[in-house]
Amino acid sequence: MNKTSGIYIHIPFCLKKCFYCDFYSITKYNKKIIFKFIKSLKNEIFLRKTEYKGKVDSIYFGGGTPSILQPDFFAEIISILKDSFDIKDDTEITTELNPEDVSEEFIQELKGSGINRVSLGIQTLSDDTLNLINRRHTSRKAKKSAEICVNFFSNTSFDLMLGLPLRSKKKLTEEIKILTDYNPSHLSIYSLHLSEHSPLLKILKDKKLKLPDTTDEYLTTVELLDKLGFKQYEISNWAKEGKRCIHNLHYWNLDPFLGFGPSASGTLYNIRKTNTPDLLSYIQNLTKFTLPSHQIEVLSKEQQKNEYIMMRLRLTDGVVFSEYHKKTGFNFLEEFKEKISEFTELGYGRIKKNSFSLTTKGFLVSNYIISSFFN
Ligand code: SF4
Repeated sequence: MNKTSGIYIHIPFCLKKCFYCDFYSITKYNKKIIFKFIKSLKNEIFLRKTEYKGKVDSIYFGGGTPSILQPDFFAEIISILKDSFDIKDDTEITTELNPEDVSEEFIQELKGSGINRVSLGIQTLSDDTLNLINRRHTSRKAKKSAEICVNFFSNTSFDLMLGLPLRSKKKLTEEIKILTDYNPSHLSIYSLHLSEHSPLLKILKDKKLKLPDTTDEYLTTVELLDKLGFKQYEISNWAKEGKRCIHNLHYWNLDPFLGFGPSASGTLYNIRKTNTPDLLSYIQNLTKFTLPSHQIEVLSKEQQKNEYIMMRLRLTDGVVFSEYHKKTGFNFLEEFKEKISEFTELGYGRIKKNSFSLTTKGFLVSNYIISSFFN
């Protein structure tokens, strides 16, 4: 296997739970549990170090809230990963940060630990909304943290959300302008999705609050970021030249991927492994040097094909015909001739020299378009 791969580390702690969040994390923990988690994580890396022999060029600490941990933690795990896998010298090493945890001292030490890219979870600069969705930080703190991050890192991404309550389109536009003035290298802007059991759903109902029109917000965002010099490369991601997120690209390109930590998943040699989404069980397993697998799935040829189409149509580069042929043995243009011409005529898709990709209009209904390609 000559592809480079990515490593994901899931940190399962948050100081409090945001009301829209479905990621696995716990809010009741102490130093002892953190210590046991770190020990278990080290055991997991040790047990799985022979799983992948290829080169690794991205490491990503996500969660949960990685920034509740000390910079020493990152330094230690990065060093263990370097001893265990073939990590390239110029590897992109990202951690997610909660604005509330950011200080000059912390960021300086984080940089010293080997982290070279940070992703700051701002979501909005509207204090009413931040309060309503139970984020820890304020708008003031988010701006201060943004300033610190860009001062220390040339690779900084800000996370924003569309479709949030209590924020007008005008305010969203202002927020994007304020945040891009800090000159981050990357922006991830996802739409709010609420699951059936999301606490925010109940709050909105109780307070009789309506969500804004995400289509309108999305179109405004796409247009504005283009004017501000950010190039869109995925439905929800924009970057300055040469600053696309290597880690996420691995994910969208279906490259080999290793996931460590509770609930983390990864795919190698068409086998997808997901760890137990339960910290206690994770620790219990790894204390006995047993792998904390929760689900092991062998991806069929059909699944791999569908996933390739699903992931690639999220990217502005789209499905590259030669790559598709290499992966599946089929000719994309011939296989989906009618669909491609239908979507192209309707303005949802376009054919470039050797690829088919979605337009902005297509991105707005991407779920429908993507699923229509599945048999
Ligand atoms: S801080 Fe992040 S992971 Fe934790 S609850 Fe909020 S959105 Fe979820």
